[in-house]
Amino acid sequence: MQTPMIDYIHLLLESIGEDGGHVASYIPELAQANPDRLAVAIATLDGKVYVAGDADVEFTIQSISKPLTYALAIADQGLESVLQHIDVEPSGDAFNEISLDPDTGRPRNPMINAGAIAAHALVSGEDADARVDRIVDLYSRLAGRSLSIAEDVFESELSEADRNMALAYMLRTVGKLEGTPTDVVRGYTRQCSVSVTVRDLARMASVLAAGGVTAEGERVLEPEVNRQVLSVMATCGMYNSAGDWLTSVGIPAKSGVAGGLMGIMPGQVGIAVFSPRLDAHGNSTRGVRMFERMNHDLGLHLMNASASVS
Ligand code: GLN
Repeated sequence: MQTPMIDYIHLLLESIGEDGGHVASYIPELAQANPDRLAVAIATLDGKVYVAGDADVEFTIQSISKPLTYALAIADQGLESVLQHIDVEPSGDAFNEISLDPDTGRPRNPMINAGAIAAHALVSGEDADARVDRIVDLYSRLAGRSLSIAEDVFESELSEADRNMALAYMLRTVGKLEGTPTDVVRGYTRQCSVSVTVRDLARMASVLAAGGVTAEGERVLEPEVNRQVLSVMATCGMYNSAGDWLTSVGIPAKSGVAGGLMGIMPGQVGIAVFSPRLDAHGNSTRGVRMFERMNHDLGLHLMNASASVS
């Protein structure tokens, strides 16, 4: 590409065009978000971060937390044990669907709420608070700065958490939930309320793109754990538009209802965007469009294939 990266991402924001959809309102506090925010960040594996737009505006990580906590659950319990609790099959279901395998009782995958709640419960910790502390600590190491919880969003979501509570109780009836449902949902809701910027998300994505190692050389995730997480993001990260996403953008990614979206180009860069209005699947409308544009302009798609003919 001829245009320097920083010029390219500014042009991308300027030309992204009309927005569509609505900010999430089922979490009352999220309905207060400025819907016109728009930001993009690209982080290289050696620690450079290119940003444009509202790159220092904080928003809650929401479901982008799911692959990260899943990584910690695997690091703590081992993959076999985690697989006994949570499957890795794309469900094609909405993020809050009650989606358990009828034979085994396992949630279909760790990217939908049922699986993410089960994954949260598998993280080690002396008590529920210690578990959350370890989770926030992992996110902070990935982001390269100390992150904290947006207490207003947390309180707001917890006051409306009946559906996630129902999922947790159901998981317990099929033996897939460690711990007390109320504690687990409280902890899961805290994990979703961690406050980040696109800069943070791009940097987190760059660590995943580097196989679990930060730009400073700290290994945060083991290679097998990192690979498992990227694989599940590729197949299940965009809920009921995961197939659309994999064919049209073609990289592992995860969205959140606050409007964040993070994508990983393994071995190359971490990318994050932020725009709060959501499409019918609960993914950021302009966020998805920005990734589609970047795929077109930068050739992100992992299935781009070519052969050199001699
Ligand atoms: N905290 C949200 C929930 O559990 C996360 C959903 C999302 O970002 N898709 O409903």
